[in-house]
This record gives sequence, C-alpha cells and structure tokens, in this order.
Amino acid sequence: MTAKHITHWIGGKTWTGTAERRGDIYDPSTGQVTGTVDFASTEIVDDAVAAATEAAKTWGRTSLAKRTTILFAFRELVRGHTSELAALITAEHGKVASDAAGEVTRGLEVVEFACGIPHLLKGGFSENVSTGVDSYSIRQPLGVVAGITPFNFPAMVPMWMFPPAIASGNAFILKPSEKDPSASLLLARLWAEAGLPDGVFNVVHGDKVAVDALLHHPDVAAVSFVGSTPIARYVYETGTARGKRVQALGGAKNHMVVLPDADLDLAADAAVSAGYGSAGERCMAISALVAVDPVGDALVEKIKERVAKLTVGPGTDERSEMGPLVTGPHRDKVASYLETGVAHGATLEIDGRDHPVTADDAAAANGFWLGPSLLDHVTPDNAAYTDEIFGPVLSVVRAKSYADALSLVNGSPYGNGVAIFTNDGGAARRFVSECQIGMVGVNVPIPVPMSYYSFGGWKASLFGDTHVHGTEGVHFYTRGKVVTSRWLDPSHGGVNLGFPVNS
Ligand code: NAD
Repeated sequence: MTAKHITHWIGGKTWTGTAERRGDIYDPSTGQVTGTVDFASTEIVDDAVAAATEAAKTWGRTSLAKRTTILFAFRELVRGHTSELAALITAEHGKVASDAAGEVTRGLEVVEFACGIPHLLKGGFSENVSTGVDSYSIRQPLGVVAGITPFNFPAMVPMWMFPPAIASGNAFILKPSEKDPSASLLLARLWAEAGLPDGVFNVVHGDKVAVDALLHHPDVAAVSFVGSTPIARYVYETGTARGKRVQALGGAKNHMVVLPDADLDLAADAAVSAGYGSAGERCMAISALVAVDPVGDALVEKIKERVAKLTVGPGTDERSEMGPLVTGPHRDKVASYLETGVAHGATLEIDGRDHPVTADDAAAANGFWLGPSLLDHVTPDNAAYTDEIFGPVLSVVRAKSYADALSLVNGSPYGNGVAIFTNDGGAARRFVSECQIGMVGVNVPIPVPMSYYSFGGWKASLFGDTHVHGTEGVHFYTRGKVVTSRWLDPSHGGVNLGFPVNS
C-alpha cells in the first residue's frame, strides 16, 4: 500500500511546498503507519492568514442569498460524501464505521442550522426613537477566525465551528488534530466544489507551532478551540492576552447518577453505550457511574452481562461495536488506570485487557486495543476518578444518597455533561436545577444539544463566555453594531452642544 501524504489547503488549493517537519498517521486497528502529515511552520500559517484576510474582504460583503446558496450546496455534497468521510475517520481514528457516519450527521446538522443565517443575523429596528430618528442593530463578521480541534471528532467538531463562522461572513482557518487530518481536506474540497471562494476556508496541519502562530497573529480576530483542559486554558490565556475573542472547550469527567427507583436495565444499557461507545474517547462519554444505595451491586452485574457480549474489532468490520484507541501511548495510559485504580482500593470487575479482539486480518494483532473495563468501589480520591481517562474505563462510585451523588457531581472540577437516571420527575427536576454542569440528560446518557442550541460545559470544561453553535455560535463570530439615523427634515437644523436626549 502506498503511504498517503497529507498537506495544507491554502487559498483554495493544495499546498505544494516541502515541509520541514512531519508527523506519522497510524491505522489504530493494525498499529501500522499509513502516511505522513506536514506540520505548518509560522510562515505557512502566515500565508494562510494572508489568503484568508484577502478572501474575507469580499466574502463579508457577499449577499446573504449567495452565501446561503453555497451553504446549501455544501450541505448536499457532505451528505453525498458521508461514507467517504466516515471511511477516512475510521482509517485514522479507529472508531467503527457507523459511529464515524454518526459524527458526520451531527456535524451536518450544524451546516443545516447555518443555512438559516439570514434569519439568525436579523437585527432589530425601532422607528422614531426620538423625533425623526430611527435606530437599528446589525451584526457583522469579525474577519479571519481560526478553529483548533481534537482527534476524537475529526469531522463533527470542526463542523461545530466553520459553518456558522463562514455563514456569518468570516474566512476560516482550521488546524485539525495531527492524528487524523484527512477528513478536513475532503471537507475543504467539498467547500470548493460548492462554490466557496478561494481563501474563505483554509486548513493548516501541525502541532503547537501552528497553534502558536495562529494565537500570535494580529490578523486572527477569534479562536475556537476544543481539546484537553490544560491546552484549552493555554489557548484562552494566550489568545485573550493578544486581544482575541476565544472560546476554548476543555476536558470532561461526566457522571451518570442512578437513583434507587431507576429502571436498572435502561440504566445499564445507557452506561454501557455511553461508557464504551467510540472506546470512551468522547468528551460526553460517561466515565463515573454514581450508583445510589442500594442499586450498586445489581447495576454492576447488569453491566457485566452486557459487556461480555460486546464485539471489539477493527472499525471497518461490520461486526465491531467498539474499535481500538487512537494511539499506542494513549492505549497504554488508559490501561494504566486499571492498575492505579486497584492500587487505590477499587475492584477490577472487568479487565478490558482480556477482552477478545474479533478480526479476520492477522495485522490486527498489533492494533491499539483495550476492551471495555469496569472498576467498582472507586473512591473520590482515586486517580481513576479524579483524572480524565478518555478511554473505555468506567468507574462505579457508590453514593449513600441523592445529596452525596450531587456533591460528587458538583465537586468535580469539570462541568461538561451529566446524566440522571430515575423515574421520579421531581428528583430529576431538582437535579437539573442543582447540578453545576453545562449539559444535562434526564434518562439520556449523552445529552449533546441539537445544533440550534449551543454546546458547552462549565468550569474547567470551557474557558470563555460563549458556547459553540446555536445562536451563541453566531454571536461569537459576529460583532453587534447599533445605528442611530436621522434623515433631516429640510425645516430642521441648528447647533446643539447638549448631550443627545430624546424628544
Ligand atoms: P489535545 O488538547 O491534545 O489537542 C487538541 C488540539 O490542540 C490539537 O489540534 C492539537 O494539535 C493541539 N495541541 C496539542 N498540544 C498542544 C500544545 N502544547 N500547544 C498548542 N496546541 C496543542 O486534545 P486531544 O487529545 O486531541 O483530544 C482529546 C481531548 O479533547 C479530551 O480532553 C476531550 O475531553 C477533549 N474534548 C473536549 C470536547 C468538549 O466539547 N469539551 C470535545 C471533544 C474533545
């Protein structure tokens, strides 16, 4: 097989230079290197910003009618290429094909939301605010904006950002994860095919060098970031210190609280789906299962029955329900929590290192595998509980009461997602009100908001004031302006040095 070579997309075309630095791209199901990705230098990022700056001048003035025509065309093209995008994601990330197609669908919903941009940008108008004076508000694009995205959703997370940004009249520079960079280039080609002018959407690949170049460039007005908490904090602090608007979404440790009256079969199905789907590499994955007495033992038994039936294997194999982890070092780090967890007093109920891998290809022996794992009796001081593991390790924490469960949830430094399972509407309602978390599910384990609401956590899961997509996303990528206008009556006039007051 010929190794692929992934490079930048700047000004509507593939970059043709020779990179000074490159990274390897892996197939996580075999552990083999399948290609390389060019890493952008500061100069290459400067070229992308220059192309975007030029394009933004015209794009920001392009009519809403023309912009939406291009958005609708892009939506159709992405829909038509869903399988191709999903295949690129599976090949580099490892998630199973249906899961990869699912993330493209959720990303498409944001494109569909952005197709309504004429309505979203509508301002207000007040006639005769003072005698002969009218007032109205408009929202205008920022210019050049950038998005820096993580490995776990190589299509969906960029699509949280660029549809509203571009629809609002900005030019966009995407710096995707270097671990699975291919989907971003197919998206760039689809934009070009949809008729987006050159330079409005650009992709620079790379690492900290590219990120720092974007954060320091004076012509980048705003940065959206999604990734781990330490880097989110760094991006927020560095970007805002340079006068940029920044929304930086960080890591998570999502709890699922199971109250004694819950339907335990429903709760066990949900815990397995949300804990092990995408190998736990989802920012909304459940990683702490808070079992309120006395449901713990029964819940653990039900989870064990279900996990025993899960098929782990390559994402390209239709039998697989869960794929490998993204890299070897990440797999090793996640697996290390099984030992750390036990050393801190937990019991290892399911050891994912023993889970069979179902694969026809012998090459799968070297994949980055770790099966679904379950730690029970995890205490709040256990590293398996305090750290974001970001893998298929579910920790069961026993709580004595609703109040104990709530204090665990609110004691977490993270505040991305949370779920409560109960048949008591009053308890659920109280929990929704009392939990300090950005996205809450009631008998729904992964409460990812629809595109017309906004996605974002609280506390160390988000640095900045606005969440992504929905109206908050459109506000992030635009600036408000209020106009007060008077068309003079020929009879009116005269100097007045007093402060304007209404008459
Ligand atoms: P990461 O923080 O390692 O990388 C994210 C991006 O930052 C990548 O583009 C990467 O190239 C860049 N980056 C990495 N190190 C950097 C550095 N030192 N300086 C500047 N840039 C750097 O995250 P990841 O491993 O790709 O993704 C997993 C993380 O993302 C998890 O913590 C997960 O919770 C989080 N995540 C959060 C959300 C959310 O909505 N809150 C969504 C998806 C993923």
